This record gives sequence, C-alpha cells and structure tokens, in this order.
Amino acid sequence: MNHFEYRDGVLCAEGVSLATIADDIGTPFYCYSSATLRRHARVFMDAFKGQPARLCYSVKANSNLAVIATLAAEGAGADVVSEGELRRAMAAGIAPSQIVFSGVGKTAQEMAYALEVGIDQFNVESEPELELLAELAAARGLVAKIAIRVNPDVDAKTHEKIATGKAENKFGISWKHAPAVYARAAELKSIAAIGIDVHIGSQLTSLDPFEAAFKRVAGMVTALRAEGHKISHIDLGGGLGIPYRGDNDIPPHPDEYAALVKRTMGHLGCDLTFEPGRLLVGNAGVLVSRVIYVKEGDNRTFLIIDAAMNDLIRPTLYDAFHEIKTIAEPADQTRFTYDVVGPVCETGDFIAKGRELTKLKAGDLVAIMSAGAYGAVQASTYNTRPLVPEILVHGDNYAVIRARPDYAEILKQDKIPDWLKR
Ligand SMILES: *Cc1c(COP(=O)(O)O)cnc(C)c1O
Repeated sequence: MNHFEYRDGVLCAEGVSLATIADDIGTPFYCYSSATLRRHARVFMDAFKGQPARLCYSVKANSNLAVIATLAAEGAGADVVSEGELRRAMAAGIAPSQIVFSGVGKTAQEMAYALEVGIDQFNVESEPELELLAELAAARGLVAKIAIRVNPDVDAKTHEKIATGKAENKFGISWKHAPAVYARAAELKSIAAIGIDVHIGSQLTSLDPFEAAFKRVAGMVTALRAEGHKISHIDLGGGLGIPYRGDNDIPPHPDEYAALVKRTMGHLGCDLTFEPGRLLVGNAGVLVSRVIYVKEGDNRTFLIIDAAMNDLIRPTLYDAFHEIKTIAEPADQTRFTYDVVGPVCETGDFIAKGRELTKLKAGDLVAIMSAGAYGAVQASTYNTRPLVPEILVHGDNYAVIRARPDYAEILKQDKIPDWLKR
C-alpha cells in the first residue's frame, strides 16, 4: 500500500499534488511519502511482535538523511556498507549501538572509524577481513562484536545481478568453511563472534529460498554451539520483494515471512536482526518527469522524457519494470504503445519499452512508480545532467530534502591545472 493517489484528477503524494511540486521546482525529481515509509516500517515490525527482533534499515536502498530519519523515528537502526553510509546513519540520528556494518570490502580506515564510534556489529565476509578487524580492535583495546556472513549456496530465484547467496557470488563465507572461521575467531581476543548472518539477494518473491537459507543457518547455529561457540544473534539480512506491477505480482506479506522465521529460528532463542531496504522505501517513492517530445519512428513511438538512465538505472541494469502513470488522471482510457526513453546518448537509456499508456503529448507529466529504492542512490551526472533532486511529502506539506545542484556548482568541481590555463 502507498500514498500516491489521484485526487481531483491529479496524482498526489499524500495531500500534495505532484503537478504543484513540478511547477515549483521543475522536473525531473524524486518524491517520497513519509506516511508510506512509516507504514512500511510498522507493518514489518508488527509482523515480528512477540519475537526478539530488531529492524536495521539497509541504508543503501535510499540514503537521504530525511528518509533515514523518518525510519529512525519509527525505531529503525541501520545496516550500512561503507563509512559514508555509517556517517549518514549517525547524522540522521541513529545510535551507533543500532548499526551493523556489512560489505565485502571494508577498508582499514572504515573499520577503524566504525570501531571508534562504537557500532554494534560487524558482519564479517572473509578471513582477511577478520584478521584485519582483530588487529584494529586490539590496537584500540576494544573487542569487536561480529557475525560471520555465511554464503548458504541457495538460489534466490531473482535477477542474477541481485542474487548474493550462491557459491559463485562474492558475498559471505562458504557455509562449509564457516566453522573453521569461527574456530579462528575464537582464538582472537579482540573478537567476539556472537552471531551468524545471511543475506541471499534482493527482490525475492517466494519464501522458498529464504526457507532453504534459514534452515541451513539454524542447523549451523546448533552445530556451532555444539563446538562451544556462544551464538546469541542471528542476522537474516533483507531481500523481501515488493509489488512492481500493481496487484498482479504480490510477494509474500511480512506476516508470512515472520511466521517462517519463527518456524525455522524460534527454537534457538537468539536475538534477530533484519536488514530490509527495498521493502521499506521502494513503493514510498516516485520519479516525476516531463515529456520533452513525442517522436514517431518507423515502427514505434518514442516518448522522450526528461528523466533518464542516469536518474534511474534499474530498467537498463536489472531489466526492471516500473509502472508509469500520468500525473493528470486520464479521461480517455485509449492505449498507445510507447518506448519511454531519456535524453542520454546511450541505446540503453530507457525507462520502459513497448509500454501501453494513455495518450501523451509534449509538456505532460508522468510518474515512474516504485522508484524509492535503488533509484536516487544510483543516480549519476552522466551527460553532465545535474543530480536529480529529492522531495519528501508529509501530509499537506513538502520539503526539498536534496536540492538540484546548479551548473556553476557542478563545473567548479573540476580543476584545470596550471599548465592548461590560458
Ligand atoms: C542490499 C542489502 C540488504 C537490503 O536488501 P533489500 O533487498 O533492499 O531488502 C540487506 N543486507 C545486505 C547485506 C545487503 O547487501
């Protein structure tokens, strides 16, 4: 469920017309709904009532400080994958004690910073990382709490670019080899291996891969305890999918997911951490864009809009489907087939191909739906297009939560060396 609906013939975010925002700040822009963000966090946490679970929002899905702060106000902690994200989570008001640090390539500098601010847990993804973290913690007289991220070799049945739990993926430590790594961790005085972590991929639309992974992890906890390891925490990652095609592909509800967790993990008596990203923010955001031209090709019609692959890369990177709605509620439902493309000089620059939409003309506004996750965070300035601004709606109000940079700001980032000055 989300809070983007037609009111008096105009698509609104909560009580604010997207057409009004477009007139005020220009297009393209991302727009997020506070009410949807809050609702998604509550639905997830309600599903786990009665289980010792906490939510650490996966900041990489949408790292705007205002978005993180909205979720933090609902009680969320954070899962970060870089020092930059760690700094964002803290700047948005999340206590270090509610932050876990994931990622295959944490540098010495990043881990030192995380140790110094006192984050809760490192999700360790390799043996060299474990050794380096142990050294850094020992040098500071600290003990680093860790979970070892295991790779359970489970097919998440999602797009190959967002599957992370197969043996051939770079993530985690092979579940077969993990016991040896726990044994090594037990020898390191500056390491407390209190947990186990798994994250098998993103946009999962079936519970079966979760079930396979969770059962493997539960079996490992029992085996590790038999070896004398005191495992008290289980981090089950994120990955639960969201509907991108309206009511046609509804993934499992968080309640069903929580029931699976209880069934597979309940007997272990461990504290649980979840790292949902997309589930919280995906359907809480849209990308609003204006039609520049309608161009008739030999056998297709191109709708050339002012948002492009540099603003939203998901269609070309992941073959992702995003529903497109007109901002003005269409009076005539007759459909026309369009290739919806941006101005960027790449054949891969498209938002949708062969899409049936109501009639559109130059100047019309469209909303690219379900763009709150992995949208703005993956934007670039390719073709020297200014980074797309972000808006947060709250009831009848809205705020610019990241402004569109002006060209002077963009150009002054480059420096011409002395030898080229003339
Ligand atoms: C990306 C990621 C997540 C969030 O995944 P979603 O599919 O957005 O829920 C959680 N944990 C880790 C380790 C990740 O890399």
